[in-house]
Amino acid sequence: MNRPVRTRFAPSPTGFLHIGGARTALFSWAYARHHGGKFILRIEDTDVARSTPEAVQAIIDGMAWLGLEHDEGPFYQMQRMERYKEVIQQMLDAGTAYYCYTSREELDALRAEQEARKEKPRYDGRWRPEPGKTLPTPPADVSPVVRFKNPKDGVVAWDDKVKGHIEFANTELDDLIIARGDGTPTYNFCVVVDDWDMGVTQVIRGDDHVNNTPRQINILRALGADVPEYAHLSMILGDDGTKLSKRHGAVSVMQYDEDGYLPEAVVNYLARLGWSHGDDEVFSRQQFVEWFDLDHITASAAQFNTEKLLWLNQHYMKQMPAADLAARVKPRLAARGIDTDRGPDLVQAVALYVDRCNTLNVLADAVEAFYVPIHPHAELLAQHLSDEARPALADFAAGIAQVAWEAPAINALIKETVTKHGLKMPKLAMPLRVILTGQAQTPSVDAVIALIGRDSVLEKLAAYKN
Ligand code: GLU
Repeated sequence: MNRPVRTRFAPSPTGFLHIGGARTALFSWAYARHHGGKFILRIEDTDVARSTPEAVQAIIDGMAWLGLEHDEGPFYQMQRMERYKEVIQQMLDAGTAYYCYTSREELDALRAEQEARKEKPRYDGRWRPEPGKTLPTPPADVSPVVRFKNPKDGVVAWDDKVKGHIEFANTELDDLIIARGDGTPTYNFCVVVDDWDMGVTQVIRGDDHVNNTPRQINILRALGADVPEYAHLSMILGDDGTKLSKRHGAVSVMQYDEDGYLPEAVVNYLARLGWSHGDDEVFSRQQFVEWFDLDHITASAAQFNTEKLLWLNQHYMKQMPAADLAARVKPRLAARGIDTDRGPDLVQAVALYVDRCNTLNVLADAVEAFYVPIHPHAELLAQHLSDEARPALADFAAGIAQVAWEAPAINALIKETVTKHGLKMPKLAMPLRVILTGQAQTPSVDAVIALIGRDSVLEKLAAYKN
């Protein structure tokens, strides 16, 4: 196939962009980028009862968040109705489709007869024109549907890029309705016309569409259109091995944003969900585009692994320049009503805490204490602020008023103070942590003190002087 590469993502806007859809979009996007082709966004909104503008927006937002920019579209199927009708007319004229006047009652009767004979229910071709066959006279009171004249014999086959060779006997496929009685085109037909008009060369989609593919190929052939390559991606299972669903927590891509994941980490994670490049687990978007192909997609289902995603997320957080990380944490704190311009430098704060945080939210939780009044829990205080610690704390406060403001000097002061009072290090370090941050677990206490700043440390310690 020498056509320029054109892939598409064709979601039905009936909900948010979920993880499975995002992976499909990512693979289609990466394939186009790898080959210097075009990536098309097509909104399959013909199910008017279930499609909503909010869902369209959610899809567009989710793709933007992941950085999957499309080159063409979004095309909306509802805006292409005239085109579908035009192609239906062409097929009627060419004799590759025909009007069928079978009424609902007749179809029900046919089905009942076939079931009584233990046959698979299927349309019997009574209105299908054949050489030498006399068709019934069209009834005046039935608006006909249009059926595709599916080949009667042989097989329709394709080499699926994921699943390998797949074939269906044409006898298994009856003559598909491509337009309803009111003239509206049906699902598979719209997909075919779109893939044809949009010059799609690779159809990458979920394997729930495998059964549609033979019908789509037959119609494409009847139209004289090039048949694209197909890659049907296996489903994604949840952590527990069952089909991924809301039960597994975040299934909407934007929920991952809300939960504090970086798009870089989610993209890297999704890339590995069913595709591999040797043992590589961590790679940049550019690297992924360079490596991506359809030959290394696994046919078996991929299993979601939240631990691995968290690990990747932390990896990307740690790797990111602290200033960028701070820029991502700042709005999260602002959304909680916290002004990080008042307090220690947020860049230093996130740098100090990133090692112990695996999401932006956990990081925001950790550094929040530097920007709000601290009210350590009475229990925590009682546990750590012992009577023997109080004089040491007072001494330390006196020292802190004049020590050189850097972690090593502060550390020396802590050591000096505990030695003087005959205490073990934690006897002073623990109450300091609790008083200064409200938390018993912090990074190195000298670094925390250095971060908070002299005035603020003195002020906080003064509250516990007695
Ligand atoms: N609209 C279909 C879906 O959301 C995808 C159709 C296709 O990719 O061909 O499942």
